[in-house]
Amino acid sequence: MSRREELLVEMGLGPVWRLKNAPAPDVKAEAGWIELKQQVPACTACGLHKSRTQTVFGVGDEHAEWMLVGEAPGAEEDRLGEPFVGQAGKLLDGMLAAIDLKRDENVYIANVLKCRPPGNRNPEPGEVEHCTPFLKRQIALIRPKLIIAMGRFAAQTLLSSDASIASMRGKVHRYEGVPLIVTYHPAYLLRTLPDKAKAWEDLLFARRTMRSL
Ligand code: URA
Repeated sequence: MSRREELLVEMGLGPVWRLKNAPAPDVKAEAGWIELKQQVPACTACGLHKSRTQTVFGVGDEHAEWMLVGEAPGAEEDRLGEPFVGQAGKLLDGMLAAIDLKRDENVYIANVLKCRPPGNRNPEPGEVEHCTPFLKRQIALIRPKLIIAMGRFAAQTLLSSDASIASMRGKVHRYEGVPLIVTYHPAYLLRTLPDKAKAWEDLLFARRTMRSL
């Protein structure tokens, strides 16, 4: 057994028998996910842990090329422990389908905050500051080819900017070298139907960008 396989066995992930030409498992990433999945539910760094039902870690393919980042869990997400499962999530699934993507298949979805702000209020700066390292770790582990930041909190957090969504749309930004495209948050689109067309443009732009990478 190679040292890599021994490590997987020690971590309770083996024994692992690989086909001759199968890619070697990334032991460091596996260990990173295990650690992060323990840290997030145990977090008490801000007051949101007191009112949460559970943390909402993220969902999807951990080797995805596409990563979508939202703001924070709402009531349904807090109840079910999965991002974007409420009304905004239905719209998001429709948006993904429009560019031939499907939740779980080559897409990973996460939020800036892992806990629900009570009453669906906006995240507070201290909450964002405490929670962002979890999101950054998820991005580092997934190593997506393209990130779509949905809404002001995701875009401003990942780009360390206070610019408006309108001014950030239509450009390829970079987060730690990863191309990042900004679009409206699905919950905003539910309230502001005319901007749906703009979000559609953003998705087509994202698809063209991905194809060019
Ligand atoms: N809005 C978000 O930003 N994230 C969710 O998971 C649900 C609604």
